[in-house]
Amino acid sequence: MAAIRRSDTKPEIALRRALHARGLRYRKDFPIRVEGKLIRPDIVFTRRQVAIFVDGCFWHCCPEHGRKPTNNTGYWSPKLERNVERDHQQTHLLRDAGWTVIRFWEHEPLEAMQTVTLSALDDNHAAE
Ligand SMILES: [Zn+2]
Repeated sequence: MAAIRRSDTKPEIALRRALHARGLRYRKDFPIRVEGKLIRPDIVFTRRQVAIFVDGCFWHCCPEHGRKPTNNTGYWSPKLERNVERDHQQTHLLRDAGWTVIRFWEHEPLEAMQTVTLSALDDNHAAE
């Protein structure tokens, strides 16, 4: 478990680098205030209102790798469930406030993440 960190995971860094290399400028951990709550997506395009999360498979209970730990289930399960619940809540709050929200799993291929991100940026660019 020691290797799992809350932010700056490898897939997240890889995606940031790839976007940066394309000349795209984003804010990292930019706090967005929605209905009195502060939400910090991993990558934020403020002008185009695109918020990106790269969710860790363990902490966010990915259907493929998010097996709940067998030890200390009494401790972990509610904690992980709260994470998932907060993810949903944050996604809804941001969408209601007009943001395009993209949630990736950290196991998704970088290429796929890039394609989805670029397409969302294009859509929002066209809408400006
Ligand atoms: Zn996964």
